[in-house]
Amino acid sequence: MACYVCDKHRAGDGVVSGDDLMVLTHVLPDAPGADGRVYLGHLTVEPRRHVAGLADLTDDEATALGRWAARGARALQAEHVYSSVVGHQVDHLHLHIVPRYPGTPREYWWPRLDEWPDAPMGGAEEVTRMVDDIRARLDVDPRAR
Ligand SMILES: [Zn+2]
Repeated sequence: MACYVCDKHRAGDGVVSGDDLMVLTHVLPDAPGADGRVYLGHLTVEPRRHVAGLADLTDDEATALGRWAARGARALQAEHVYSSVVGHQVDHLHLHIVPRYPGTPREYWWPRLDEWPDAPMGGAEEVTRMVDDIRARLDVDPRAR
């Protein structure tokens, strides 16, 4: 059975970091539902194991999901970070981690962040740069901020 997320993990596309249970990735411009440009900083945390929903996680996987969500959120350096599980397009659990950057007008706050004309959007090249930037900030201790 073909799975977009499992294929992405095998190829390493958009991967920021991860461990033996979870993968922290950036949403890719060729993702289902994307149109070649994506909101920069839109991350997902995905179990390595192909499972459909939160209820399918083991306790260890759930712990790892929370840890990677927090690490990703810290590395984004946003004024606020949204998080959700939707699952309408891909049947492999992925927790969205979406930054709201300083200066985002109130009328474009989630779920309309990417409708803001000045939203930071990008294609493959910008996503690659963003992945490198986020990876470099992953280990920042929140108590040092
Ligand atoms: Zn899968």
